[in-house]
Amino acid sequence: MNYQNSLAFAQQLDKEDPLQHVRKEFHVPKDTHGNDWLYFTGNSLGLQPKQTQQYIQQELDDWAKYGVEGHFEAQNPWLPYHEFLTKTMAEIVGAKPLEVVVMNTLTTNLHLLMVSFYQPTKKKYKIVIESDAFPSDRYAVQSQLQFHGFDAKEGLIEWRPREGEELLRMEDLETILEEQGDEIALLLIGGVNYYTGQYLDIKRIAEIGHAKNCIVGIDLAHGAGNIQPDLHNSGVDFAAWCTYKYLNSGPGSLSGLFVHEKHAYNKELPRFAGWWNHNKETRFNMRQPFDVMAGAEGWQLSNPPILSMAAIRSSLDMFAKVGMTALREKSEKLTGYFEYLINQIATDRIKIITPSNPKERGCQLSIQVQNADKSLHEKLMEQHVITDWREPDVIRCAPVPMYNSFEDVFRMVEILKTLV
Ligand SMILES: *Cc1c(COP(=O)(O)O)cnc(C)c1O
Repeated sequence: MNYQNSLAFAQQLDKEDPLQHVRKEFHVPKDTHGNDWLYFTGNSLGLQPKQTQQYIQQELDDWAKYGVEGHFEAQNPWLPYHEFLTKTMAEIVGAKPLEVVVMNTLTTNLHLLMVSFYQPTKKKYKIVIESDAFPSDRYAVQSQLQFHGFDAKEGLIEWRPREGEELLRMEDLETILEEQGDEIALLLIGGVNYYTGQYLDIKRIAEIGHAKNCIVGIDLAHGAGNIQPDLHNSGVDFAAWCTYKYLNSGPGSLSGLFVHEKHAYNKELPRFAGWWNHNKETRFNMRQPFDVMAGAEGWQLSNPPILSMAAIRSSLDMFAKVGMTALREKSEKLTGYFEYLINQIATDRIKIITPSNPKERGCQLSIQVQNADKSLHEKLMEQHVITDWREPDVIRCAPVPMYNSFEDVFRMVEILKTLV
């Protein structure tokens, strides 16, 4: 792509963008003059689709109108409500509907998945994570180690970038598995690393992990709605992700969960039980012995929060309309333009650490700031350029193809240029 560093060029790209109209369907926060903020934190909390209010209002209305009968009588009956989300969610992550369910929140789901898939023995008990894994994932696996009676430090193996580098190399994970594979029970890896934005080859991770009889789980918090992870074909055993980042479903909204089809009918897997993973046919015959459902639904415990699910349904309906293929196509172009413009700034103060190969990243670019000078981030925020600062020294920016424009990117970099 031959990019040009001009507002006119950015506006031309917007004009040619087949998804340009989608931005109007979102609430974009505004400054006191009524100008849109330059919002680059859809990787942290996605913007609100305007139609979400109606989706939630529908459930409030049906609750007012029907009370408990809303489980059957609501326009979208609550009893099977989670099923309305499955098809599109499965398409977004490249899974079969049987393999996907929306339930709980992300860290909770990681624990429930580890109840089933982290089965350590005295000899094979270690867990591999990225050295800069998201803190919640680190705490989750450490507490699982301790829960099973292991030392949280000794049992944890960190896959880390080499000295002087920022990104992970697959051959280093291969070495870890070569040397310690017999002691490793589980790999739990962020499919797109939250810090660097590196999109890892999860199919390859599954292959080399499985070759050493390890279970492979993927955290897709920064992948779902961003990249196309093709989960089923990747062969990973399980995955989980939240829906409030790229999936625009509102603060603290529920999590998606994937369990590969190869485990769908295994009733012997240890797992926690509740009435919602019990056989649907006999769920309400209260005196039945527990009979677990097949597939990802077999990990549910409780009847789910409909109001949160209504927001997810609203967002997923938009994803179904727009399609991941079109989003990803725009995303590569938009992020490519962002990278091009940043690289035009002549300065040593900032450096992009995200991979430059579009196949190894989603839409996030992580900008490393010399001397960890956080004031740069603060100055961006003062001008309503919304990015986030991650310790020790990175500004994360995500031009989201669903609602960010080429002009947003151009204006953002113009401001950045004046600040460095
Ligand atoms: C955002 C994020 C979380 C947050 O977990 P919650 O349980 O939803 O609070 C966890 N892990 C990763 C990798 C994340 O990016």
